[in-house]
Amino acid sequence: VNSVFANSRDGLMIYKLGEKSVGLPFVQKDGKFFNPNLKYFDQTNGLWMRNDWFYKNIKDSKITECMYKKIHPKDRNCGRCHYELPKNLKFNKKRIAFKKDGNYITAYYNIPVNNDCIKCHTHWKEGESGGYLGVKIDLTPEKEKMMKMIDTFKNALIIFILVVILIFLFNALNEKKKLFTMAVTDSLTGLHNRYYLSEISRKKLSKSKRYNYPISVVYMDIDYFKKINDTYGHDVGDLILKHFASHLKNSARKRDIVFRLGGEEFFILMPFINKKDACSIIKDIKESLKDGDRCISTDGEKIYYTFSAGIADTTETGFNLNNLMKVADERLYKAKITGRDRVIC
Ligand code: GH3
Ligand code: MG
Ligand code: MG
Repeated sequence: VNSVFANSRDGLMIYKLGEKSVGLPFVQKDGKFFNPNLKYFDQTNGLWMRNDWFYKNIKDSKITECMYKKIHPKDRNCGRCHYELPKNLKFNKKRIAFKKDGNYITAYYNIPVNNDCIKCHTHWKEGESGGYLGVKIDLTPEKEKMMKMIDTFKNALIIFILVVILIFLFNALNEKKKLFTMAVTDSLTGLHNRYYLSEISRKKLSKSKRYNYPISVVYMDIDYFKKINDTYGHDVGDLILKHFASHLKNSARKRDIVFRLGGEEFFILMPFINKKDACSIIKDIKESLKDGDRCISTDGEKIYYTFSAGIADTTETGFNLNNLMKVADERLYKAKITGRDRVIC
């Protein structure tokens, strides 16, 4: 509360304060005067400004004369004091009006004229407004508090939106990564597919050309696969494809990249080694397939199978995937026609 004030209909005339509110001292619960509106006390030519009135216990003070009497010394009949509110003043909510003015809100209580008032204010009529009490409240601190809250909320909202965007981006990136993985992976064996070969070989070959190191490629094909399918069924054929894929993956070097090109054709990109070393690795893989765990058919039968391979390297073809594949394929064909289950380099 910034100021408390009271206006009386006649009060305005008496103090000649025009439209302005007249500050009146109020009596607090402990009986002391409470002067909330010094500015208006001032405007009353000190009438309400006697220092000895302020903050004194009303019972101890020597105020015996009523203000009204001071102003109207000749009026003997009406000498009631107005600085104390009538004890029986009943507040009626309907009589409260609010006014908003910038950062201030003022609540006015219209005091109804009663019989008591009319005894002195003879021109007043019962039920009319005899004046009002007002309370003026500065909303600035509340508004500042509110602005702070809005700021905090705004910051929280911004952080929330950023987090949502980050989550969205993270999910979108994840989704993109997932889609890419799906696009470059053979669903049956989990190896890379032909599409990935064209993607990765470009990078690997250009790097090998730049730093001048060899790359070998291996073209492989399972022997008599049609016969296996015919004998054991297509599902067992699939089991063999998976078995061969994991055998290649487990046996190849870490930096080798293994592909299933389609059907029962497989391919390996082997950076940093020439045809001779690649050949020896693939021959070992071929032998270890015979020694290693067999693929087991759905009936529990161990299945023996072999593969043929053709190998080429960049020292003989240059850094071109098509040329490498062509030469390796020719050698694979040679391996097939010369009896299968062999590696031609
Ligand atoms: P070769 O020794 O000359 O390579 O003879 P092959 O029987 O292995 O080759 P061919 O090209 O005659 O047969 C390949 C078979 O592979 C025919 C096709 O039905 C089968 N095949 C292709 N893709 C799949 C697959 O995903 N799963 C299974 N189970 N079979 C497949
Ligand atoms: Mg084939
Ligand atoms: Mg085959």
